[in-house]
Amino acid sequence: MSNEELFYKPQNVYEKMDAAETAACFAYAEGYKKFLSAAKTERLAVKEAVKLAEARGFKPYQYGKTYAPGEKVYDVNRGKAITLAIIGKEPLSAGAYIAAAHVDSPRLDLKQIPLYEDSGMVYFKTHYYGGIKKYQWVAMPLELHGVVIRRNGTPVEISIGAEPGEPQLVITDLLPHLDSSMGKKTVAEYIPGENLSLLTGSIPDKEEHDTPVKLAILKILKEKYGIVEEDFLSAELEAVPAYDARDIGLDRSLIGGYGHDDRVCAYAELAAILDTEEPNKTSVCLLVDKEEIGSEGISGMISTAFERFMDSLCRMDGSTLYDCFAHSFCLSADVCNAYDPLFAEVSDKRNNAQINCGLGIIKFTGSRGKSGSNDASAEVVGRVRRIFAESDVVWQMGELGKVDQGGGGTVAMFMARRNIETIDAGVPVLSMHAPFEVVSKADCYMCYKGIKAFYAD
Ligand code: MN
Ligand code: MN
Repeated sequence: MSNEELFYKPQNVYEKMDAAETAACFAYAEGYKKFLSAAKTERLAVKEAVKLAEARGFKPYQYGKTYAPGEKVYDVNRGKAITLAIIGKEPLSAGAYIAAAHVDSPRLDLKQIPLYEDSGMVYFKTHYYGGIKKYQWVAMPLELHGVVIRRNGTPVEISIGAEPGEPQLVITDLLPHLDSSMGKKTVAEYIPGENLSLLTGSIPDKEEHDTPVKLAILKILKEKYGIVEEDFLSAELEAVPAYDARDIGLDRSLIGGYGHDDRVCAYAELAAILDTEEPNKTSVCLLVDKEEIGSEGISGMISTAFERFMDSLCRMDGSTLYDCFAHSFCLSADVCNAYDPLFAEVSDKRNNAQINCGLGIIKFTGSRGKSGSNDASAEVVGRVRRIFAESDVVWQMGELGKVDQGGGGTVAMFMARRNIETIDAGVPVLSMHAPFEVVSKADCYMCYKGIKAFYAD
């Protein structure tokens, strides 16, 4: 054994990949960029997932029907979460290989009474969703997506600003010339939450009215979408950055875009299960909503929609759900923070995931002494080490910042609560939760490769 072999050193993915694999990595990134640009909300992500799955032979799951090993199914939960599965050769009591990611991302949701006019301009009021730095969302183009349910129960899909030439929305910022007092405020105080209002119009209607611009906008909404102001009461409309994912860097090694957290892992899971054939254990790909606000809610990871689906699979071969969970293994596929030399002071460089060093495994998240963390066991880390070593997956260990610097959580603990062995694994991200996040193509590819190896184990 050489002296070098005694040491552990994270590897750079590019040192490991040959020309053919580098080409495969860049080709994978093209598919991901397309997905990310189309999947700007959880509903749109689920729609894209269904489209990709159906093209690869996945069929809507029918509760109560018996499926043979190798059959591919998907089940959509209320348009906002989706579970895909390939029935394994082994019974469900032997456990399933589950990869779970979330498809919701930080954004600005319209309030339920959003429209108002002030000083000849009309605005949509918003309430932010997830952890954002509010100052990052002003003075940039935004588009709006979602659904409005009218009083008679009929839905209207809304999409404004995504197509070329369509108008977009914006939140205005203060000019630097006049920010002498604002400049003293903290980053958190600078843009008050109630100021996150989307500029939506400015032409007054010629009819006599107190709010002639609002009247004009309401007429446009009626004409284009068939909705009236009251319909916003039962609407879910999300303002998201209005730009597509694109290459970053002269070497095109990085991808910038909105919502890498956690669609980068969601897409990796999806691509991995689409490329899986006849697994030994049942493969499950779970894409859920609501992670950014605590995983609660009927479409979140805590919802027993997951139990219902898995229990239904178990009933096909007489397995019990408890036995299935006890023998299952879950990769909680969520992004981790990439080491950023511009903010070196918040990380322990030796233990932080780095760009281009592969899939990040996070043994524990949480804060203040790992509180609120899944904290995977040595045995669980050992198991993924074996799987990745056998399949040449470049991976690294990461952690969420320096001890006592802050922290956060993922869906991992909610899977572990079900008595499922679970570990966090995901792509390192720069500028996480910003409207324009950055990931490395090499890490995206290794995430896909890692999940594929996991399903194939
Ligand atoms: Mn996440
Ligand atoms: Mn997040």
